[in-house]
Amino acid sequence: MPYTLPKLLFSYDALEPHIDAKTMEVHYSKHHRTYCDNANKFLAGTGWEEKPIEEVLKNLDKLPEDKRTPVRNHGGGYFNHNLFWTFLGGDSRSPSADVQGALDGAFGSMDAFREKFEAAALGQFGSGWAWLVKNDGKLEILQTANQDSPVSSGKVPLLALDVWEHAYYLKYQNRRADYVKAFWNVVNWNEVARRFTAAA
Ligand code: MN
Repeated sequence: MPYTLPKLLFSYDALEPHIDAKTMEVHYSKHHRTYCDNANKFLAGTGWEEKPIEEVLKNLDKLPEDKRTPVRNHGGGYFNHNLFWTFLGGDSRSPSADVQGALDGAFGSMDAFREKFEAAALGQFGSGWAWLVKNDGKLEILQTANQDSPVSSGKVPLLALDVWEHAYYLKYQNRRADYVKAFWNVVNWNEVARRFTAAA
C-alpha cells in the first residue's frame, strides 16, 4: 500500500491566529502531499515500499544507493510532517507533571527549555527543524537540516517545529522569531506526554 496523508485532527483555522488557516491548508494539502507522493515514487520497486516510513528512515543505508538521498528528503518530509501535525492543536497547553519534571531535570526550568528550543529553531540556517528528542535515555534539543529526521540517527522525537519558510512565510514573512514564539500557544502537550511515556 502506498503511503497516504494522515487525516488532520484539527481544522485549518483551529490554530489561528498563531498559525493561519491559509498556511495550514497549503502546508498540509500541497507541501505534505508532495512529500508523500514523492516518497511513494522513489520507494516503488525498492522492496521497502511496504515498510512503515519510520523503519525506512532508520535504514536509509540499506536502500539502493540512488534512492537514499531522495528518500531521505521526501520520505523524511512525509514522516516529519506526519509527526508535526500531532504536536499541534488539542487542548493541553502545558506539559504533564512527568514531562515537566523531565524538562526541569534536563534543562533546569521550563523557561530554560523554551529558550534553548527557540535558539535551535532560530539558529537553524535555512530550511530545517527544531526537535526535542530522547537520546540514550536523556532529553536533548537538536536541529536538523532540510527533511533529515532524528529517527535516522536512532533518536526518539518528542516535539518538533518546522522552520522551513513555507511553515510561516505567508503570515510572518521573515519574522521566524515571531512564529517560533507563537508556536508555544498551539503545542499539543498531550501528544508530547504520550510519546514521552511510550519512549520510557
Ligand atoms: Mn513543512
